[in-house]
Amino acid sequence: MSDVEGTPGLESGVVTLAVLREAGRLPPPDVLEKAVALPIIDCLEDIPCTPCRDVCPTGAITMKTMINRPELNWDACTGCTLCAQACPGLAISLVNYNFGRKSLKRPGYEDYSLVMIPYELLPIPKKGDRVNVLDRAGKLLGEAEVFSVTRSAKFGTVLVNVLVPQSIAFEVKHVEVKAQ
Ligand code: SF4
Ligand code: SF4
Repeated sequence: MSDVEGTPGLESGVVTLAVLREAGRLPPPDVLEKAVALPIIDCLEDIPCTPCRDVCPTGAITMKTMINRPELNWDACTGCTLCAQACPGLAISLVNYNFGRKSLKRPGYEDYSLVMIPYELLPIPKKGDRVNVLDRAGKLLGEAEVFSVTRSAKFGTVLVNVLVPQSIAFEVKHVEVKAQ
């Protein structure tokens, strides 16, 4: 039996930013300055599942026991994205918060983040496509450019990487191919 009842704020079944913040799942300001993709782990239930912990090359993800939820040490995370590739529940997205300012350097995109979303539907969006971006409740937040699409050689997981304003970077959790 899961431990949803033990996580205040999860009664609705939709993880909110407030719940993630309370659980330490949103990066603190100093960590946001790292020019890497940081994992946002929406997994807040105690379940017997360990791929994210097992694949992490730096030991940044730990669990009290194998049936407990993952804990992340922000300082140890290098942004390799392996945990998101390995998670069978698509519970981990990644946010490179200062991607526009530090890496993209495209005029007008200084306040944009790169958000990396695990995706298992068809058709798979392509680089340059415009897609809808949705929050954790499925609410439409707007549309975004697909900056790149990667497929994990080890796990087969597709990550759709979209450019979004920093103001919604932590809200975006799903992408949706726009109707033709
Ligand atoms: S992004 Fe890489 S280093 Fe960071 S927690 Fe995930 S697997 Fe570990
Ligand atoms: S692999 Fe995914 S579902 Fe499993 S414990 Fe880690 S975050 Fe949760």
